[in-house]
Amino acid sequence: MEYKKDFLHAIVEEDLKSGKYQEIITRFPPEPNGFPHIGHAKSIYINFGLARDYNGRCNLRMDDTNPTTEDTKYVEALKDAVKWLGFEWDGDVRYTSNYFQKLYEYALQLIKMGKAYVDSVSEEEMRELRGTVTEAGKRSQYANRSVEENLDLFERMKNGEFQDGKHVLRAKIDMAAANMKMRDPLLYRIKNVHHHRTGDTWCIYPMYDFAHCLSDYIEGVTHSICTLEFENNRDIYDWVIDTLGLEPPRPYQHEFARLAINYTVMSKRKLLELVEGNHVSGWDDPRLPTIAGLRRRGYTRESILNFCESVGVAKANSVVDVAQLEFCIRDDLNKKAPRVMCVIDPLKVTIENYEGSEELEASCYPADVAKEDSRKLPFSKEIYIERDDFEENPPKGYFRLTPDQPVRLKHAYIITCKEIIKDANGKIIEIRAEYHPDSKSGQDTSGIKVKSAIQWVEASSAKRVELRLYERLYKNEQPQGLEDLNPDSLHVIKNALIEPAVIEQKPDERFQFERQGYFYADPIDYTDANPVFNKIVSLKDSWKKKEQKQPASKPKQKVKPVQVDGEVAPMSQEEQALFDRYTSKLGLNSEVANTIARDADLASFYSEALAVANSPITLANIVANEVARELKEQGAIKLSAKQVAQLVAMIDDATISSKIAKEVFEQMVKTAKDPKQIVEEQGLVQISDPAVIEPIIDEVIAKNPDNIAKYKAGNTKLSGFFVGQVLKATGGKANPKIVNKLVAEKLKSI
Ligand code: ATP
Ligand code: MG
Repeated sequence: MEYKKDFLHAIVEEDLKSGKYQEIITRFPPEPNGFPHIGHAKSIYINFGLARDYNGRCNLRMDDTNPTTEDTKYVEALKDAVKWLGFEWDGDVRYTSNYFQKLYEYALQLIKMGKAYVDSVSEEEMRELRGTVTEAGKRSQYANRSVEENLDLFERMKNGEFQDGKHVLRAKIDMAAANMKMRDPLLYRIKNVHHHRTGDTWCIYPMYDFAHCLSDYIEGVTHSICTLEFENNRDIYDWVIDTLGLEPPRPYQHEFARLAINYTVMSKRKLLELVEGNHVSGWDDPRLPTIAGLRRRGYTRESILNFCESVGVAKANSVVDVAQLEFCIRDDLNKKAPRVMCVIDPLKVTIENYEGSEELEASCYPADVAKEDSRKLPFSKEIYIERDDFEENPPKGYFRLTPDQPVRLKHAYIITCKEIIKDANGKIIEIRAEYHPDSKSGQDTSGIKVKSAIQWVEASSAKRVELRLYERLYKNEQPQGLEDLNPDSLHVIKNALIEPAVIEQKPDERFQFERQGYFYADPIDYTDANPVFNKIVSLKDSWKKKEQKQPASKPKQKVKPVQVDGEVAPMSQEEQALFDRYTSKLGLNSEVANTIARDADLASFYSEALAVANSPITLANIVANEVARELKEQGAIKLSAKQVAQLVAMIDDATISSKIAKEVFEQMVKTAKDPKQIVEEQGLVQISDPAVIEPIIDEVIAKNPDNIAKYKAGNTKLSGFFVGQVLKATGGKANPKIVNKLVAEKLKSI
């Protein structure tokens, strides 16, 4: 995997160059109090990735200083996650608890130096004495205990002579420090509890601020990488190491922004609440962002690693769109997953004029995927199709089977409906059809025009399977708690039918069920008697969704009328061949395929662009919409296919949003410039980096003192004004979601 150099890579590189360290040692230090989630994957990727990139080492350390919440099952889940992501920790798994004795000795040393003392005030009093941001704190009366008295008390704390909370050990730093964390932070507290590794040996446990830096030092860690909320703890980290006079090389702490994803909760506490309240089926529920859940859902290691790479390493917090995670798995599976057929809501079709049976050879990959394989598809007179692939009274623009409109059975023949059979309630229970013997896929000489190809399964060989279809677990973009859960996040379909080859495949394979999405055999519940498949992700990308939301550019009518007096003009044989290729090989939906196939200019433009950018669906959408509109309005396309392909590549790699892409397209048409040039010249690259956006927010706030005053006086609606001003100041290039969030945070803090 190729690295762009982020700030952490830059620091490490500099430290090696300057000779500060001979070797890089990082560590991933989870607290084993829950299953790891995708945020941890990012941390794993960063820590193990840095070690790998600079021939260093990375330790896996269980930060087990809080015995009440920890458990060995979490330790196992953490080890599994690291291994599954393809990383190897140096030596054995390490535990902070292995260092309890050493840490205790360091504490004694601080006491002897007069740099730590036993405090005995109540929690409440301690809070009062700490002061506030604007007011210095005061030391408690116990701070001037003698070294001997401190040593004695600390030993008795260790020996279990006191109740929890009776005393604590504190560093003696500065009760007036501007950084509140430095106002004599706690180093040890009494906890008379059993520890999952050290048993009942200890009645005192070190605090994070004391244990973490020293554990890093003990292990020879060079770069101690943590998330931003520990920024203010860095001063304690340095104080402990400096005050103890520890020999170099010593570790330094560096902070990065933690990963947050919309529609997702990431804190282990909230995940635990979901698991314990049975709102999900367990830590590995496929709807959870845990590594175990993502894995069970069918996410590949590559997709997670690519995601971690694509979100980058930043110094300011932001929220990533969950669509980006979905993009990564779709992108990975598009290249890998064999295409097979599954019918979710089966409708029986009897082909009256077909006798006997045969096995069709069907390729598993479309032409634009660099993989080759095929499987046998049984065919006979009884098949099932998707219920909604037949319409008795089709709306305009319906391209599948109707009483008057034939359809192609993918990889097989064209069929024509002869008779509709209904039950007593008028529900269609069977279609009687006729097939066209000379229309076999690949050898079609029938001359029959169809507008789409649909999936089907042969009745006697198809297997019944259970499908689990997932929606987002939360209905809100920024879920807070249980009240935001989406009540419809799981749909179970009991009687889907699948072609037999899928069941015979290796169980670890991911499949694309044609036109339905990507699926994965559930690793826990799948049995021969009840095969269960999880839906990993749908096939559609977000560009397409956005296109559908804008009925303004209905391409079909604009390009070339395909509906003449309610009748559909037939396709030529060439058009038909293109249409078939688009739908069966390139995965286009029939509408888009129809638009392009029926227009020679669009079709050749599309084929040229495809040769440059391997994104058949995104490209097809632009060709069928923007390019088609241009062609209609101007009578010619002034752009080259290559330029459009470049534009698509920029959407694909998230350089520009699809909104900006439309703007760029307009300008390409006017100026005939390359999209890259337009984006560069006008700086249209989407701005998502809070470090860039924040100063602009500050400026807007500084310029509008009156509105700030009104806001403070209770007019909270004005936050919209500030968001608007910031977007305006960036010429619409700032990522609005991030601006919204940052403005909200800023306003809250003033
Ligand atoms: P949570 O709040 O989810 O419980 P945590 O930070 O308490 O997370 P730890 O087990 O202490 O979880 O974290 C182990 C490592 O993973 C730490 O270095 C932490 O900074 C990192 N980490 C945890 N959550 C994220 C995240 N969302 N993004 C990036 N790194 C994370
Ligand atoms: Mg934690």
